[in-house]
Amino acid sequence: MKIGCPTEIKPQEFRVGMTPNAAREAVHHGHEVMIQAGAGIGAGFTDADYVDAGARIVDTAEEIFAGAEMVVKVKEPQAVERKMLREGQVLFTYLHLAPDPEQTKDLLASGCTAIAYETVTDARGGLPLLAPMSEVAGRLAPQSGSWALQKANGGSGVLMGGVPGVRPANVAIIGGGVVGTAAARVAVGMGANVTVLDRSVPRLSYLDDVFMGRLTTQYSDKGAVEDLLPRMDMVIGAVLIPGAAAPKLVSREQLGVMSPGSVLVDVAIDQGGCFETSKPTTHEDPIYEVDGIIHYCVANMPGAVARTSTIALGNATMPFMLALADKGWKQACAEDENLLNGLNVHAGQLTYYAVGKALGIDV
Ligand code: NAD
Repeated sequence: MKIGCPTEIKPQEFRVGMTPNAAREAVHHGHEVMIQAGAGIGAGFTDADYVDAGARIVDTAEEIFAGAEMVVKVKEPQAVERKMLREGQVLFTYLHLAPDPEQTKDLLASGCTAIAYETVTDARGGLPLLAPMSEVAGRLAPQSGSWALQKANGGSGVLMGGVPGVRPANVAIIGGGVVGTAAARVAVGMGANVTVLDRSVPRLSYLDDVFMGRLTTQYSDKGAVEDLLPRMDMVIGAVLIPGAAAPKLVSREQLGVMSPGSVLVDVAIDQGGCFETSKPTTHEDPIYEVDGIIHYCVANMPGAVARTSTIALGNATMPFMLALADKGWKQACAEDENLLNGLNVHAGQLTYYAVGKALGIDV
């Protein structure tokens, strides 16, 4: 199969859909791989790395879209890219169609077969192509939050690990799923005093087991959050209610009980945010202050570490990409229900129920 990987054109997107290793595997499987010149630069991969892997470098996105039977990307196709998609072509990337009627309309009109990373499942009902980015965002959260705690950034000037004779930072992580667990790992590693709150008691048991006393677990309800806030230097929001906007767990009024310069890191900002005062920010201008509390609410945190994120995403997508290329999308999806769950659009028809429901389109 001819596989093409264009340069990402969404603003501030430095990741790339295929790593040189993914290209090498595809070539080894007998496929022809085209990479747009410079596509890997943002993630630290040169054109020469792809040529070494057996891929062919082409100059323009037009050549990729015209020549490839499958286009592999990171972000949803932008309007100019959607115009180049064609009937019978497979598109394998993040799509997030539910809140995006324009994109959905264009994908339907193109006649392409679009398989969305975010709805591919695994045997345990997890989302294996979303999880690596949650891992990245989670590990980044205490790192970014600790930067915001520094005086020059408006923070209270508390050091995460403290020093002998001075207490470490108190960090609460609300939501102990993939993001929350990854955040806990780094916050504990930095020497902070960490409490994880969740509504799932099995999840709290798991965390209690894995961290062996190095953090405190607490059932998440209004009382617990209220009780913790005055003592916290940093609160990381990492909740998810599948298919719904994030619940607001800290109100503006409650900021008043926190110490000035404390930090809120709202990782759930891509689902609307879990603090009342959250609004999306960018890597250029990541923080702002409300009532003396510093907010970090970057909606695409993994973009800050594009190299790690690209490799992590590539590791997760590679087996699915190879199955699609080796067997063709129809056979690959027929043999693997988890991959079939990724199918969102085919030949002008919406094929994913939740997206159809959100957009009022028949599936
Ligand atoms: P997950 O499903 O693995 O974990 C979510 C956890 O939240 C679950 O354990 C659940 O029990 C818990 N939860 C739900 N309601 C709660 C409540 N009221 N109090 C406490 N816990 C509650 O999800 P995840 O992969 O960890 O993702 C968490 C959030 O991070 C999502 O909103 C996701 O979209 C977001 N995310 C953001 C970025 C970014 O760049 N900003 C990147 C990746 C993920």
